[in-house]
Amino acid sequence: MITYTLICAKGHEHSDTFDNYDDYRTQADAKTLSCPTCGSHDIEKGLSAPNVGKSAAPDIAPCGAPNGCMGGACGLG
Ligand SMILES: [Zn+2]
Repeated sequence: MITYTLICAKGHEHSDTFDNYDDYRTQADAKTLSCPTCGSHDIEKGLSAPNVGKSAAPDIAPCGAPNGCMGGACGLG
């Protein structure tokens, strides 16, 4: 799940939760998103919501290798 800040054509911000970016994209393209303030279906994604990245425990090493990169062989870990 991911929370995006959404902004309507009139500048009203609200947050909505999606399964992933594609889920957001699908709903945005289908115009099923609407502003809770004015009802506009002209919605754009704003900057990342504040709670994105609240977990400080990454599952992926800086180099992108899952479960760490075996002793830092890549020089990034
Ligand atoms: Zn609005």
